[in-house]
Amino acid sequence: MSANYHTHTPRCNHAVGSEREYVQKALEAGLKILGFSDHTPYLFPGDYYSTFRMHPQELPGYVAAVESLKKEFAGSLEIHTGLEAEFYPAYFPKTLDFLREAGVEYLLLGQHFIGNEPFGSYSGRETTDESILEGYCRQVIAAMDTGAFTYIAHPDIIHFVGPRNIYRKWMGTLVREAKDHQIPLELNLLGLRENRNYPNSLFLELVAEENLPMVLGYDAHQPDHLTNTVQLTQAEALLNPFGIRLLPTVELKPI
Ligand SMILES: [Zn+2]
Ligand SMILES: [Zn+2]
Repeated sequence: MSANYHTHTPRCNHAVGSEREYVQKALEAGLKILGFSDHTPYLFPGDYYSTFRMHPQELPGYVAAVESLKKEFAGSLEIHTGLEAEFYPAYFPKTLDFLREAGVEYLLLGQHFIGNEPFGSYSGRETTDESILEGYCRQVIAAMDTGAFTYIAHPDIIHFVGPRNIYRKWMGTLVREAKDHQIPLELNLLGLRENRNYPNSLFLELVAEENLPMVLGYDAHQPDHLTNTVQLTQAEALLNPFGIRLLPTVELKPI
């Protein structure tokens, strides 16, 4: 692979390694482009704050650290400052302004919760409830409509185990909307690394039916995730039967 746009840092409280170590591993892996996309800060009202994302006051330090490496490694590695963000309709516009002012270059959509955190439900929770699947798809499509997202990270995070035709109906709509919006869909290597419910082969079938390529996301939470080739082989084995090709790079959408 030549590019990875999905990289975390310890600011989210569940990743390890300095930005510099990620850069070193990216060079070791032969990557040409490395995008940092740690879990975004969010401007929630009141006292609530999530445990798995950086705080708003950490954002300037994050941007400064990545921008400084961008300058230092210019010529050997193209580095970008991004974030992985949920689309929470209630808080997104204000948060987006905040991210824009801080100098963030791009956003990946990672819709970990449906609704508005903390009131929504976790997308990866197993369910047979069609309304949850529908809610997830509608929210991801609404996120596409904002025009703020470069690509959709782990689009198949939703863990629907009900009837196959129901899954095909809603996720097929999501895939067709992604095609219409020209937003790439990610094949997530963290899901393979941790044997999660994604990548989902039923989802890949829908992607193949629409003739869409995918973008590989390492979703690195430690530096050596970038040099680990086991999941690359697994990803290839997973995609080949469907004839899905991988995009070498994606165009970053300014936020
Ligand atoms: Zn994470
Ligand atoms: Zn991630």
